[in-house]
Amino acid sequence: MARLPFEGRVALVTGAARRIGRSIALKLAAEGADVVVNYRSSKAEAEQVAAEIGACGRRALPWQADVTRRDAVARMFAEVERAFGRLDILVNNAGIFFPASFEQLTEEQWDTILDTNLKSQFLCAQAAAPLLKRHGRGAIVNLSSLGGLLAWPKYTHYCVSKAGVIMLTRCLARALAPEITVNSVAPGTIRFPGEPADEEYIRRAPLRRTGTAEDIAGAVVFLAQSEFITGQVVVVDGGRALT
Ligand code: NDP
Repeated sequence: MARLPFEGRVALVTGAARRIGRSIALKLAAEGADVVVNYRSSKAEAEQVAAEIGACGRRALPWQADVTRRDAVARMFAEVERAFGRLDILVNNAGIFFPASFEQLTEEQWDTILDTNLKSQFLCAQAAAPLLKRHGRGAIVNLSSLGGLLAWPKYTHYCVSKAGVIMLTRCLARALAPEITVNSVAPGTIRFPGEPADEEYIRRAPLRRTGTAEDIAGAVVFLAQSEFITGQVVVVDGGRALT
């Protein structure tokens, strides 16, 4: 049987218990990787993802860590080293999203979104870099957003955090080369079962639909596998950013 692309490799996905992170973790495992399933509060869901990965013959480690905290991030990567002895792929997926008019935006809201969406990616990339370099070839994929490219007035704080992710990606692609590739996936609106259809998005997107978590997981896996793409942002939005 043909060897799977990530067989013998270890991946860590932040915020992997639910939604997009869950799909990324399952897709990496389907491609052969053992997966560390990071979560903050969704313990039962993380254990369920780990069980699904285990059922397809891969190792999975659910691991609780608030990725805005350096000490928790350091403990998580120390545990990766202890449990697996290597790390090949880091997916910085954890994030938050909420609207706030700029004039009412509080300092606390600003700090929370910048810490969760941007600082966490810095902390995880820095802690992971020595492990990712150890075998001469590692990959980081950072989740940004269409909001990092477009200016949404009710989401200044979010757009700034995701624009920061895009520049972090480009800077790290140079800082961590040649051993580590660093890329970003910028999702458009992703719809989950039970959520109402976003008719306005569907009307404006050239491909006439919102995305699925699988659309995003496919792009993440593609970038994690590529050996000659670095510093790039792949916009997975059905063409919405074009309109
Ligand atoms: P969610 O809002 O569902 O959040 C994903 C996970 O992030 C949560 O399950 C949560 O874990 C985790 N998380 C939040 N804060 C922390 C923290 N401090 N430490 C550790 N984990 C944390 O995200 P989506 O699945 O909707 O999106 C995934 C990524 O894609 C995000 O970066 C998002 O900004 C981006 N994106 C999503 C879009 C969409 O339409 N959904 C569109 C554009 C970009 P727990 O549940 O365990 O607390």
